[in-house]
Amino acid sequence: MSTTEVPPPYFCNPAEEAEALKHVDWASHEPLMFMRRRGGIKLDYADYYERYHRPENVERWAKLLGPGGMERLHFHKGMGLKTEREEIDRTIAVSKKMHELGLKVSVYVGGTLHTDWFFKERPESKDWIAVSTSGSPITYQGYQLWRYFPCLNNPGYRAYVKEVLDVAVDEVDADEIFFDNQILRGEPRSCRCHVCRELFPKYVEGKYTPEQRVERFGHADISGITPPLWTDEWPAGAVRTINDPVIQEWIDFRCRNVHDFFLDMRQYILSKKAAVAVGMNIKGIHPHNLCFDNGIDHGRWQTPGFNCCDAGLHARIGPKGQMSAEFRAYKMTHTTAMTQSPQGSNLDNILCLVMNKQLDVPGFGMRPSMGREVNNIYGPLGRFLRQHEHQLFGTRPIFMDVAVVRSFASMAYHCMNWIYGPLIAEQALWDSRIPFGIVFDQNFNTLKRHKAVLLCNQEALSDDQWKKLKAFVENGGGLVATEHTGARDDWRRARVKNALTAVFGLELGDKPARKEFGKGRVVYLPKLVPAIEYKDVPLRHPYASYNDCVAPKNWKQAEDALRWAAGGRFSFELKAPKGIAAEFREGPTPDERVVHLMNFTGKKIAKPITITMEAGEKEKWAVRILAPDGAPKAPPTPKKVKGGWSVTLKGMGDLYAACVWSPV
Ligand SMILES: [Zn+2]
Repeated sequence: MSTTEVPPPYFCNPAEEAEALKHVDWASHEPLMFMRRRGGIKLDYADYYERYHRPENVERWAKLLGPGGMERLHFHKGMGLKTEREEIDRTIAVSKKMHELGLKVSVYVGGTLHTDWFFKERPESKDWIAVSTSGSPITYQGYQLWRYFPCLNNPGYRAYVKEVLDVAVDEVDADEIFFDNQILRGEPRSCRCHVCRELFPKYVEGKYTPEQRVERFGHADISGITPPLWTDEWPAGAVRTINDPVIQEWIDFRCRNVHDFFLDMRQYILSKKAAVAVGMNIKGIHPHNLCFDNGIDHGRWQTPGFNCCDAGLHARIGPKGQMSAEFRAYKMTHTTAMTQSPQGSNLDNILCLVMNKQLDVPGFGMRPSMGREVNNIYGPLGRFLRQHEHQLFGTRPIFMDVAVVRSFASMAYHCMNWIYGPLIAEQALWDSRIPFGIVFDQNFNTLKRHKAVLLCNQEALSDDQWKKLKAFVENGGGLVATEHTGARDDWRRARVKNALTAVFGLELGDKPARKEFGKGRVVYLPKLVPAIEYKDVPLRHPYASYNDCVAPKNWKQAEDALRWAAGGRFSFELKAPKGIAAEFREGPTPDERVVHLMNFTGKKIAKPITITMEAGEKEKWAVRILAPDGAPKAPPTPKKVKGGWSVTLKGMGDLYAACVWSPV
């Protein structure tokens, strides 16, 4: 199935659906052997495990998920192919049944070695384990100490994973292969094995000419550089900003290792079977330095794949009234090639469907979608979403009037930028229902998709990036920059003259400054003032709480600056009670627009919601409302207003409503 080939929606007969739901047992991605070794399982876990493998249970999956529905099965946790064989055979049997019933099979590939058995099965694997600064293995946190992380660069380990993939493709005939636990642990718990120590200087050398190496490191010969030697006395957790070029390269190298492992495995899988979806758990944007701590630089994930925010942030109203959710992860699917699974609640599922740029996997179909990643909504809501998913969601772009920049050098080399930088601005944009996106270095060639670019303390941008920003503004774009934006280059060297002054002639001081430049506009704000001060713990990796992630105190000033820079208005403006989030997309046809309203309050809203859409003088628009709890009897009539059209809804249901705009 592809975007051009949309299947009719699948509806299970409500009575049959209710009956199947009463008896169904959903699969787990964990083998029984692992559950027992982990300890603390429910006494009837083995009974459940037996039950969910039964053919009659798989038939219930088929009934509930519909054609092309997907379940993720246990496959290889890391005990070893021989040790896990009996359970793998059970997965093969279930897979056969699933395929007979037209379902898609996802299998789980774990990222740790379970040493109790693995070392016996593969004695040579003792050479594959990751080695921390102290020379000790890197265990799965402090409680599953028998699980060791392998080195993702080790050729022996990579060859072994490919043997695992052979079984996944050749014997299970998997339609999706999902990798978990490949992201790295925080320093000093990351690999310094002989493979990494050899590869690191070679990788860095390959990035630069001899002249560049002299400029960057002081000498062209960098074959002697080694991974940074953090210790208990000099802990990595104390690091805040990173000027040392070798540590900068080490962060880049670690981000490269995770990404390169994914690319290598993906390529291997696709060389064996073209119609397989590949995913990896790399998590969403969280309030700590993911590049430094986990080797995850989301911007470089520009090869199609599937991500999950395992144990991520559930959609809810936060303690300060903010709308907390993994909205950043969903936004990112429009500027990377990774699409994203939900967190599980109905509201999260709505966010996932509404906000994701779906991935169209050849021979597999669209994801995320109902019956696949969203597999726990039934009844009237499930029927509503199945009826409208291809019409309302899909691969169509969202409106990203404001582009929040997260440049690698500004973020990876400045741990506090994950707490004070773009994070609070994104929260404010989301709470203010302003159409926005999150962009990375990889998106600088498509800035013209946006009305304005927001640079929150993006201090380390390259000369080339400033050239692109200049061209963007000259051609009518807006730019709002805060704090030390422009103060450094992408090696974090201090510029003699701030780039904002050098490029746009903005005089920077402790007061806001704005000017017109070419056809566009530029604003400087000295600071986004955090509403809640982060309490830093000097020796610990900075890690903020989403509960404290709220709009800056001076957000009004920033919002005004953005609106001015964007030319006076955004594509959409929303006046609504607190707790209503919005996403703005093209669709159902390319000429139409949809404003998706997502209700975080959990209660019916009986207050007016006014949506104003920017439109040309001669355009005429009609509106219709789609909602799971029923559309209003008569659709509201839009009114012509200055610069566009405006419509007022009398309220909305407790979860979701879509306001579809069609040209007349
Ligand atoms: Zn290593």
